[in-house]
Amino acid sequence: MTKDEIFAAMEKAYTGAGSTVEGSFAGDLLRACADGCAELQGLSLRNVSLTVFENDKKIYTDFGELLFTHFGVSGPLVLSASAHMRHFTKKRYRLEIDLKPALDEQQLDKRLLADFAKYANHDFQNGLDDLLPQKLIPVVIELSGIPGRQKVHDLTREQRQSLLRVLKHFPVEVSAPCPVTDAIVTSGGVKVGEVDPKTMESKLVKNLYFAGELLDTDAYTGGFNLQIAWATGRLAGQSAANEKE
Ligand SMILES: Cc1cc2nc3c(=O)[nH]c(=O)nc-3n(C[C@H](O)[C@H](O)[C@H](O)COP(=O)(O)OP(=O)(O)OC[C@H]3O[C@@H](n4cnc5c(N)ncnc54)[C@H](O)[C@@H]3O)c2cc1C
Repeated sequence: MTKDEIFAAMEKAYTGAGSTVEGSFAGDLLRACADGCAELQGLSLRNVSLTVFENDKKIYTDFGELLFTHFGVSGPLVLSASAHMRHFTKKRYRLEIDLKPALDEQQLDKRLLADFAKYANHDFQNGLDDLLPQKLIPVVIELSGIPGRQKVHDLTREQRQSLLRVLKHFPVEVSAPCPVTDAIVTSGGVKVGEVDPKTMESKLVKNLYFAGELLDTDAYTGGFNLQIAWATGRLAGQSAANEKE
């Protein structure tokens, strides 16, 4: 069996030639919208922490890099997080970004007080320059509910608390995953129980071999999916060639 025949066979399997196809095929990029998301397009955040809530239950949290794009959010953190968001038809998802994960609320409050002392007599909207990237400042101000023209030395403790909440729990509403055509990795595929792991041949259809994304296997990005594709592809090719001899 040639490579083309394997792919052609795969295509048939995809369209239902006997094998069970598992999973939702959800893309691994999230289409998400946040207040002010359009303004944040192109902003890359490093060293932030991302938490995923499924119907308000915390299901995943990680630390790393996140990117605001024209469609919502992406980047390594979001790609990994999206692997845990598999029930979009039944469940609601939202994200929270901790913009200052290295500081607990008390430490961050001290930092705010120090910055506001430095920027005494400045408007609040000009007092966050040392703390946040420029693009993020108007969005954080809007979410905090504090008037941008208020002087920083006039901010009350309650207003600081409100700002702290936004900095530690920056909200991102997720509307849907991106379509499968935009996916980095697909989740779902031919049920692995129906494939012989020693040859990658279908247990149901003789001379039908599966590899890579066709299988119901997926992992975090970072090389694991490539490894799955290469290892299973090589084995499927070798097994098909041996069968032919
Ligand atoms: C932008 C991007 C970044 C990624 N980064 C990573 C990463 O960092 N780490 C990681 O582990 N994974 C990553 N992945 C995922 C990884 O590339 C895939 O999991 C892996 O390439 C899947 O290999 P595959 O052979 O199963 O499928 P593919 O690589 O999609 O290959 C399928 C091939 O089959 C051909 N084909 C389709 N239909 C037919 C047909 N009817 N006849 C003949 N040929 C056909 C297609 O043209 C294609 O060449 C990334 C993917 C993308 C898109």
